[in-house]
Amino acid sequence: MSNKVRVRFAPSPTGGLHLGGVRTVLYNYLFAKHHGGEFVLRIEDTDQTRYVEGAEQYIYDCLSWCGLEPDESPLKGGPHAPYRQSERKASYFQYAKQLVDAGYAYYAFDTPEELEAMRASLKTEANPTPQYDGKVRMQMRNSEALGMEASQKLIDAGTPYVVRIKMPQDEQVVFTDMIRGEVHFDTNLVDDKVLLKADGMPTYHLAVVVDDYMMGITHAFRGEEWLPSAPVHILLWKYLGWVDKMPEWAHLPLILKPDGHGKLSKRDGERLGFPVFAMNWKDPKTGDLTQGFRERGFLPEAFINILVMLGWNDGTEQEIFSMEELIQKFSISRVHKGGAKFDYEKAKWYNHQYIQRKTDAELVALAKPYIAAHGVDTTDAYLEKVVALIKERCTLLPDFWEQGHFFFKTPEITEIAAIKDKWNEQKKAFFESWANSFDSITDWTHDAIEASFNDAMTANGLKKGDVLLPLRIMLVGGKYGPGVFNIAEMIGANETAERIKNAINIL
Ligand code: GLU
Repeated sequence: MSNKVRVRFAPSPTGGLHLGGVRTVLYNYLFAKHHGGEFVLRIEDTDQTRYVEGAEQYIYDCLSWCGLEPDESPLKGGPHAPYRQSERKASYFQYAKQLVDAGYAYYAFDTPEELEAMRASLKTEANPTPQYDGKVRMQMRNSEALGMEASQKLIDAGTPYVVRIKMPQDEQVVFTDMIRGEVHFDTNLVDDKVLLKADGMPTYHLAVVVDDYMMGITHAFRGEEWLPSAPVHILLWKYLGWVDKMPEWAHLPLILKPDGHGKLSKRDGERLGFPVFAMNWKDPKTGDLTQGFRERGFLPEAFINILVMLGWNDGTEQEIFSMEELIQKFSISRVHKGGAKFDYEKAKWYNHQYIQRKTDAELVALAKPYIAAHGVDTTDAYLEKVVALIKERCTLLPDFWEQGHFFFKTPEITEIAAIKDKWNEQKKAFFESWANSFDSITDWTHDAIEASFNDAMTANGLKKGDVLLPLRIMLVGGKYGPGVFNIAEMIGANETAERIKNAINIL
């Protein structure tokens, strides 16, 4: 590639960032890094009616949690600043005007009531949402129908107007998508999209083309939902005389619901109990909180790996990739055309894999907040031993508490029923005498505790099957956890004896 690769992620800050959005960031980022190029973050906030407090900051936070830092952005600045479209307002008008002057666009003065009347009168069963297009253009109030002179008078008189693209009749717009190959559009089916609004703000369609041009974007990757807008954008590149600078396009496949039927939505996550947003998002208007992957206890590295595989593979069976490997191996030509089904169980599998790959010291840092949240104050040395014992049982970060709480606090015995039926005087006598013998265990270690337990058990005529499960329930509260003698070693002789005696009392 001769030109330096420049890609962009261009979100509209309207709410939480869906995992599909983060995957778009990731593919942009990997492509840029693979080619030694630059990754730009541009905030597309020209639609003031959709402005949502906090949504822009949330995007920055998500990107930094994922480690996908842009090279240029509103926060970082860069040679093409400003990177927030609302701050570039003045630069779009001249292009709208240029398009009108060249006959590729026109002024339209239709009021909301007139637009409504047009839609109502043309609405049929076959055409439930009539468009403003070549078929109705000449019946509306615009510079095509009224002529330029009359239109200029209206403008001079302060009549509000928008600028619309004039979609040509009977043309094919063709472009080569890097994933889909050649894509064709019939211009008769595309409406005369608004390019500049009455408030002087461009719409997304004009702004995206002008900014991709001004910012020297070489490749534009975005979700498949933008494919229907592609003919408008391609015509604008052509009409503005920039077509030789037009980026290469790739429309990324949708992320589908687990059953493969339709696009994965925030509501699917709520219905099926898994996150769909990268991080917690609190809607400032409704106060509704949507949980994110981060807060659910996913590691950012795992999240990245989950996302990259939703639509791409390297052609082998490999599933776990470091960021360095991804940068080296990623190519758009290996992105699938078809949608990728989201599988939450598989997502958890990745997180489990990443937890196992961490060092115990790293896990201490990750687990600590979850332990501290329960009012536990512990040392790193103790926590490191705990994480080593339980990490293979941990899939999400909160599991470090769920699977390890009994190392820190006397547990409530929730599964007493599992041993109550078979409880008898013989077992009681055994546990009592064993718990009273701990002074004689000189080194309180796993092996010594186990040896003492086995000796006492045999002396009392009992077998492992009789007493191991009761011991576990006494120390843990339930039928889970790592080796029971490891637990005894960690909590110490006094606490072990206490837990046994307390359990005997309720049996
Ligand atoms: N602002 C659009 C969005 O919100 C960007 C689409 C594009 O990348 O062209 O997704």
